Amino acid sequence: MLNVKILTAYPHMFPGTLQYSVIGNALKEKKWSLDIINLHDYGYDQRKSIDSEPFGGGPGMIIRPDVVEKALLSIDYQSHAVKKLIYLTPAGKILKQSNLAEFSRFNQLIILCGRFEGVDQRAIEILKFSEISIGDYVLAGGEIAAQVLVEGCIRLLPGVLGQPESLFEESFSNNLLEYPQYTRPQVWSDIHNEDHEVPKILLSGHHEKIKQWRANKSIEKTKLIRPDLLEKEKKE
Ligand code: SAH
Repeated sequence: MLNVKILTAYPHMFPGTLQYSVIGNALKEKKWSLDIINLHDYGYDQRKSIDSEPFGGGPGMIIRPDVVEKALLSIDYQSHAVKKLIYLTPAGKILKQSNLAEFSRFNQLIILCGRFEGVDQRAIEILKFSEISIGDYVLAGGEIAAQVLVEGCIRLLPGVLGQPESLFEESFSNNLLEYPQYTRPQVWSDIHNEDHEVPKILLSGHHEKIKQWRANKSIEKTKLIRPDLLEKEKKE
């Protein structure tokens, strides 16, 4: 079973979104487990502070390496679980669907959420955290990023999604975006009384033709919105 441990200065932000829907059900059904470690329990002074000013000057505060180490040693860090340590940071490698697949195969994920200006670099290097970013933008803390990463991993675990087939053709498998999807009503009359039909081919019952149409749409959409994915495909 995949065990996730979160190191955070804001333990109350968890389980957050992870307690709901398929991910929350899987948690209740013990298909994965979640432990939250409060960095403030390992604060270095009477006030349980976890941060100090950056050496060399500059704004903001940095989470101290000794605090991160103590928090890490408090968990069964030395155990034999096949584990991956992740520090979420905008200065990390961008998270991809393929990384989620890789992470979901570990026994244990230990995820460090930064706050303020981040974490002392020595903690990241010496304690061997991989630096991962969820995108080219800056959030106020790593907690939402951690929930993004964990949610993405857990839905890949066997038995978590009701229909595991949904994993085969979704966006980013084969470096493509998913084809457009449609449902009822077949003709949707909007508030301006304009009718919008679903593409006729989807009602035809020709499975082969539908498959081909979807494949074409998928490529068309990827070319338009994410040509970089197709470039990547060529290089691989
Ligand atoms: N000074 C840092 C930004 C700190 S943001 C810099 O310029 O790189 C504060 C914390 O929010 C970070 O330590 C990190 O844990 C989290 N965070 C912010 N943006 C993120 C992103 N895009 N991906 C992952 N974590 C992020």
